[in-house]
Amino acid sequence: MALNDAHCHFFSSRFLDLLAPDGGGADALAARLEWDPPGTATELGDRWAKELDRHEVSRAALIASIPGDAVSVAEAVAHHPHRFVGFFMHNPAGSSADTTLERALQDLNMRAVCLFPAMHGYRLDDEAVERVFKAAATHGAAVFVHCGVLTVGVRQKLGLPSRFDLRLGDPLALARTAAGFPQVPVIVPHFGAGFFREALIAADQCSSIHFDTSSSNSWVRFHQGLTLESVFRSAVAVLGPERLLFGTDSSSFPRGWQKGIYDQQLRAMTAAGISDGDRQQILSANFDRLFPA
Ligand SMILES: [Zn+2]
Repeated sequence: MALNDAHCHFFSSRFLDLLAPDGGGADALAARLEWDPPGTATELGDRWAKELDRHEVSRAALIASIPGDAVSVAEAVAHHPHRFVGFFMHNPAGSSADTTLERALQDLNMRAVCLFPAMHGYRLDDEAVERVFKAAATHGAAVFVHCGVLTVGVRQKLGLPSRFDLRLGDPLALARTAAGFPQVPVIVPHFGAGFFREALIAADQCSSIHFDTSSSNSWVRFHQGLTLESVFRSAVAVLGPERLLFGTDSSSFPRGWQKGIYDQQLRAMTAAGISDGDRQQILSANFDRLFPA
């Protein structure tokens, strides 16, 4: 069965340097996190390619997980253009945001802009987000928008401040902007990460909105009685199987690709009565349609 992972983080050396500039360098930070040193972006990309081989994963989205690190993912993608799809975190409220955005989409060939409004402090119906959608439309890129609960494990482990404004990750505000750009595919990770109902409403109104299924989805604990099985059932009922993208949220090494997440989701999909054909769309075909190799 073909398998694509729509959500992996590319935790490069540059990512670590940008995350904690006073942390003594990437290798020292990796040691504190009990990670293998990421090495160069090419080395890390090669390691990811081997890891995907080992688990028979065909293709994966690699997310540059801090503004300014698209260049690392671009390097990995350049060596494995048929395996990797470049996503990058972007702060539309940051300085020279428009130039950075244009460079990533035009020169670095990134295929999805990742927004974290709760982290960077802007509204999803802000004009700056509208500009992101405009650029995505021009370049045929997608927009990935983190809504709901946001915890960044690596920040917590390094003791970095995480004063996120969770109110800003509102799927309904996203729907307002996304509705103006029906040609731009939108990906909301983790089924809306706790704003499940709002994410379903947004996706019902706006057919460009997709969900990714990634992570342990531990947000289900905020909804009494909700299980991953019922999440899949509701999501398929509202969005259809063609708007769900399988993902794991894998990140660092030596842990590598999170097969446990895959197994858990397969079990949930089976329990939810999702057909083989629908499952194939979720596990691979939808990703290939949005991001042709
Ligand atoms: Zn993630």
